[in-house]
Amino acid sequence: MMTKSVNNSTEIARHNLLGMTQSRLTDFLLSIGEKSFRAKQIMKWIHHCGVDDFALMTDLSKALREKLMAMAEIRPPEIVSQQDSNDGTRKWVLRVTSGSCVEAVYIPEKGRGTLCVSSQVGCSLDCSFCSTGKQGFQRDLTASEIIGQVWLAVKSFDGFKAHQKVDKKNGQIINADKPKVTNVVMMGMGEPLLNFDNVVDGMNLMMDDLAYGLSKRRVTLSTSGVVPMLDKLGAVSDCSLAISLHAPNDELRSQLVPINKKYPIAMLLESSLRYINGLSDNKRVITIEYTLIDKVNDTLPLAHELVALLRDVPCKINLIPFNPFPLSDYQRPSNNRVKAFQRVLNEAGFIAPVRTTRGDDIDAACGQLVGQVADRTKRKQRYLSNQNSNEEQSVRIVNGLQ
Ligand code: SAH
Ligand code: SF4
Repeated sequence: MMTKSVNNSTEIARHNLLGMTQSRLTDFLLSIGEKSFRAKQIMKWIHHCGVDDFALMTDLSKALREKLMAMAEIRPPEIVSQQDSNDGTRKWVLRVTSGSCVEAVYIPEKGRGTLCVSSQVGCSLDCSFCSTGKQGFQRDLTASEIIGQVWLAVKSFDGFKAHQKVDKKNGQIINADKPKVTNVVMMGMGEPLLNFDNVVDGMNLMMDDLAYGLSKRRVTLSTSGVVPMLDKLGAVSDCSLAISLHAPNDELRSQLVPINKKYPIAMLLESSLRYINGLSDNKRVITIEYTLIDKVNDTLPLAHELVALLRDVPCKINLIPFNPFPLSDYQRPSNNRVKAFQRVLNEAGFIAPVRTTRGDDIDAACGQLVGQVADRTKRKQRYLSNQNSNEEQSVRIVNGLQ
C-alpha cells in the first residue's frame, strides 16, 4: 500500500489494485462495503483493457468509482527507459523505489513471445557468475510490481485482450501479427522463491483468465534451489519449474551457487521431482539450466557426470553460454566447447538446446540484468573493492612493479 501526498499536507494510504488476485480484491471490496462480484469487473478493466483510471470503468456506479479514486490506485512501476534491440528484444528499466530500478525483457521467438520478469531488487544469493548477485539486495518486489511488468509489456504492444480485433466472418484475430506475451519466465533479477507470496500472487494473475490467462506450462519459475520454499510451492501453484543447476556435483556447485551448501543437489532434485510429480498433468518435465563457463563447468567429464546425475530425472537441459559482465573473471566458452558438451548430452538422449544470446546490443541477456540497486547488503561495495584491488595487482604485475 503506497502513501500519496495531497496538497502537501494530508497523507492518504492507497491500495494498489494492480497486484491483487481475485480473492484479495474480493476481500478488499467487502472490507469497504462493496459486493464481491465487482472484483471480476475491476480485474477485467485492469488486465483485459489496460485501464488504470477508475473514471473509465463505466460499468461501476459513479459512487464506487469516486470511492476507489479516493482510496485506491492502479499503479505499475515507472518506466525509466524502454530499449529495442536489433533482434526484436525489448528491455525496460523500471523504477520501483527512489534510487532503485529493476529490469524486464521481452524476447520474441518463432510463434511465441517470452517476458522475463524480475522478482526482487537485486538478489541476496550471490552466485559467482551473476551480475544481479553482485549488485547486492535491497528488497522484495510487491505483487503489483511483479504483475506490473506484464501489464506494461502488454501495454507497450497494445496487446490487451479487449483491443484484439476479431474478423466477424472467420473468427480470426485481425491484428495477430503484433508482438504478444505468450510466456513468462521468472528469470529476471532476484530469487523468486525468496519472495514467495508476492511471486505466487503475480504468477496466479498471469494464469488467471480474468487477467492474462496464460497456461500453466507457459509460466515458469526459475530457482537456484531454495528447497523449503520449493516444497511449499506445489500447494499453491502449478507453474512450470526451472532449476538453475550449473554443476553436476556439490563441490563445484557450492562454488558457483553458494546456497548449494545449505541445500545440496540431491535434496534439490528430490524436491523438484516431488513438485512435478504432484502436478495433475503427468507430462511435465523440469527445465535444468546450465550456464556454461569456460574451463570451469564445461568439460567433457562434467558433461558425463551430468548425464549420470540426471539419468532418471524427466527433464530438458537449457545450455546458456556465460554472458560476461564488467569485472567478472569468467569467460564464455568457444562454440566448439559448447557443441562438444551438448553432444554428450544429446548422445545420452537428452534434449539440450543452446540458448542463443538475445538482445546483446542492449545488455538484455541472462545475468546481465543489473538494474540499479540501493544495496542494503553492501555486497556491491565489497565486490567492487575486491575487484579493484585484484585489478590493481594485475596492473602492477603487468607494469613489472612486482
Ligand atoms: N534467481 C533465479 C532466477 C533468476 S537468474 C535463478 O537463479 O534461477 C535466471 C537465470 O540466469 C539462471 O539460470 C541463472 O543461473 C542465469 N544466469 C545468471 N547469470 C548469468 C550469466 N552471467 N550468464 C548466463 N546465465 C546467467
Ligand atoms: Fe540470485 Fe539467480 Fe543471480 Fe543466483 S543466479 S545471484 S539466485 S538472480
